[in-house]
Amino acid sequence: MNYTGPVYRPPYEANTLLLEVTVGCAHNKCTFCTMYRDVKFSVAKEEQVERDLQEAQHLYPDVKRVFLVNGDAFVLSARRLKEIARKIHAYLPQVEIITMYASINNVKLKSDEELKQLAGLGIGNLWIGVETGLGEALDYLNKGADLADTELQLERLNKAGIRFFYGFMFGAAGKGRGIENAEANARLINKVKPVGIVPTTLNANEGTKLANDIAAGAFELATEREVLEEQMKTIELVDVPTYYMGIHVINTVSFDAKLPNDKQAAIDRINYYMSKTGNASLDSVPERHSI
Ligand code: SF4
Repeated sequence: MNYTGPVYRPPYEANTLLLEVTVGCAHNKCTFCTMYRDVKFSVAKEEQVERDLQEAQHLYPDVKRVFLVNGDAFVLSARRLKEIARKIHAYLPQVEIITMYASINNVKLKSDEELKQLAGLGIGNLWIGVETGLGEALDYLNKGADLADTELQLERLNKAGIRFFYGFMFGAAGKGRGIENAEANARLINKVKPVGIVPTTLNANEGTKLANDIAAGAFELATEREVLEEQMKTIELVDVPTYYMGIHVINTVSFDAKLPNDKQAAIDRINYYMSKTGNASLDSVPERHSI
C-alpha cells in the first residue's frame, strides 16, 4: 500500500483498510492544526489507487470498511469519489462502508443529488471536525465555514442519508467559556443528530496561530477544571441517542459511552476524577500532546 507523508486516522478506524486517495489537507489553515502543515496537498494518481486495491484484494480480502486517506479526502469531486467507490466494490465486494475525513466546505461543493449517489455507493460515517458549535469560536479556529453553513451542510448530509461523526474540542472557546461552548455544541449536536460525537481537547501546537496568540496574550487556554466541567455539561445536555467517543489520548478523562443510557455514569466518572485531583492541578493548564 502506498502512503505519502503523515497519515492520520481516527482511533476508531484501527482495523480499517487505509487507502490513499489524497496527500495532505486541501484546507490546511485551521488556527490550531499542524497535522499536514509541511505537506503539499495533492490527489493520488488513479493508477496508484488501483494498484493499492489490487494489493488489498490479496492482503485483506475480508475487509468490510475502507478509510480514504488523508486530511479531508471528501474534497475530491463527486465524480472521482464515485469512481473510487465503484473500484473498491469491484476489488473488495464485501466492503460495506467507505469512510474518510470531511470538512463542511467539502460537503458544500456537492449537490444534493451527488450526495445521495455517494451514499448509495456506501460512502458514509464521515468524520467531520466541526470543532465548536459557538459561532465566534468557530470563526477564530478558521475551519473555512461559519456556524450557519455548518448547520446547513450537516442537515444536507442527513437528508442525503450520509451519516457522520461530529468531532469537537473541549476548550475550543478558551478560558472562562467552557459552559458556553458545551451549550453551543449540545444545541448543534441535538439538532443534527450525529451517529457519534468525538471530543478532543484544544492544545497549543508550536508554530500555530493559536500558539502565537497565546504567547501574545490574545488567547488563553481553559484550565483543566474548566475542560472537565465543559465535558460534564456537554454530556448532560446532549439529549439525542448517540455514541460518546472520547478515547483520544489528549482527553484527561477518556472513555466511550452510549448516550443517553450511560449519561450519569459518565458524569460520575468525571466527578470522581475531579474529587481525586488536587486544586493545583485542576486550576492549571496542562501540557497536552495530541499523539
Ligand atoms: S484540522 Fe483538519 S481541516 Fe483543519 S487544517 Fe487540520 S487537517 Fe486540515
